[in-house]
Amino acid sequence: MTSTPTLSAAGSGAEGTSAADRLRRTFDVGTTRPLAWRRAQLQGLVRMFAEREQDFADALQADLGKSRLEGLVSELSLVRAEAEFALRRLREWTSVERVRVPVGLAPASAHREPQPLGVVLIIGPWNYPVQLLLSPLVGALAAGNCAVLKPSELAPATSAVIADLLPRYLDGAAVEVVEGGPEVSTQLLTRKYDSIFFTGGARVGRIVAKAAGEQLTPVTLELGGKSPAVVMDGDLRAVARRLVFGKFLNAGQTCVAPDYVLVKAGLESQLLKQLKRALAEFYGSDPSESSDYGRIINETHLDRLVGLLDSGRIYAGGAHDRSTRYLEPTLLTEVQPDSPVMADEIFGPILPILPVSGMDEAVGFIAARPAPLAAYLFSRDSAVQRNFEERVRAGGIGHNACNLHLTVPGLPFGGVGDSGSGAYHGRYSFDTFSQLRGVLSKGTGIDTLRLAYPPHNGLKKWL
Ligand code: NAD
Repeated sequence: MTSTPTLSAAGSGAEGTSAADRLRRTFDVGTTRPLAWRRAQLQGLVRMFAEREQDFADALQADLGKSRLEGLVSELSLVRAEAEFALRRLREWTSVERVRVPVGLAPASAHREPQPLGVVLIIGPWNYPVQLLLSPLVGALAAGNCAVLKPSELAPATSAVIADLLPRYLDGAAVEVVEGGPEVSTQLLTRKYDSIFFTGGARVGRIVAKAAGEQLTPVTLELGGKSPAVVMDGDLRAVARRLVFGKFLNAGQTCVAPDYVLVKAGLESQLLKQLKRALAEFYGSDPSESSDYGRIINETHLDRLVGLLDSGRIYAGGAHDRSTRYLEPTLLTEVQPDSPVMADEIFGPILPILPVSGMDEAVGFIAARPAPLAAYLFSRDSAVQRNFEERVRAGGIGHNACNLHLTVPGLPFGGVGDSGSGAYHGRYSFDTFSQLRGVLSKGTGIDTLRLAYPPHNGLKKWL
């Protein structure tokens, strides 16, 4: 594969060349192919998290007010687990598999083998700025690729730490971090890559997909959406805790957070009481004082979220402070399905709770909207669970637990329809960044293909 003409990539490397060009040269000489190289990179990532945990924790605190523990659990440890999982499975994933050959082609052999794609571009969002940039990188490196990384400019402290630390732990000839905002992304997208992996919103997803289409580059889109949580039955105290955990983690700025709750009529007032109780248990009477409660990424998002508070009656929360980018965990009731809070992904600590008559209404409500990244059901009844799985279209499903499915390296993680295309984590990351190539081999001895060669007169009597 050839690279496009040179143009400086902002903020990186030598004049007159782009990151893509430089990495292409590394890829072309085969540096990234040996398993030993791939292992060294994955081990480098693991070592980086062990040695520089504090740098990441400080950056996440500065950008998102994340507590050290939350940063560790929801970001660093997930990438580390992905890297360790890949290290254990690398030999298995890269192995060559023999395939049976049709008798008519014998004597011959065939096999399939995963091949690295080449140079990949990974564009990350701000809400989990470590995990969502470096978790795909694990797959890219395990599969033997070079990678250009573009962290989000809206988490500047984390972006700076990544740009500073990665070259110290990884092969700088194969991995480059290019910092900056949309203008830098736009420039990066003028280059030819072998795969683009984008995590972010649908608006930018469309821009990225279009740019990728121009170059015939395969693209993985990890987008968002309004992920519903349906409450049908169960211990409402436990249900409320799980909802509050899933929703208010990272102050609601989580792509798989339950966006809104559909609760079976009759359970609503009990659930609301339990949600309020869980909020007090988790974050105290004043969450602004809690070291476990995060902040909104910037004033623009805070203003947007505050504007949504008018979409219903505030049952709990609602307090906000622009100077500290604080928005109290908020429960909204009496919300109309066509109100602003129900239009787009909330992506903040506001949880609308809407009553439904039962499962049919809940499923109809979800089906009438774009397919979400996740859908959660709270029910003890396995028949109800199967029914939900069959009827709800979503990137992933969680029964009686929010957000946790993405922590299982054996599960594919990705969206469907408007919530994205393609999947990653564990083996699926490796596959996303690999070409599964088919190889057929024949000797030149006995030529059993004679019958297939023209002129075909000899064949006619057999057909
Ligand atoms: P975003 O789409 O605004 O930005 C994502 C990245 O795109 C950033 O690095 C940004 O610099 C870059 N970008 C911005 N404008 C661009 C342009 N014109 N051309 C090219 N690149 C551009 O998303 P965000 O605000 O950072 O993140 C929030 C969104 O991401 C939410 O919708 C959320 O649901 C989604 N999300 C999805 C997942 C997932 O795993 N599926 C995870 C986290 C967030």
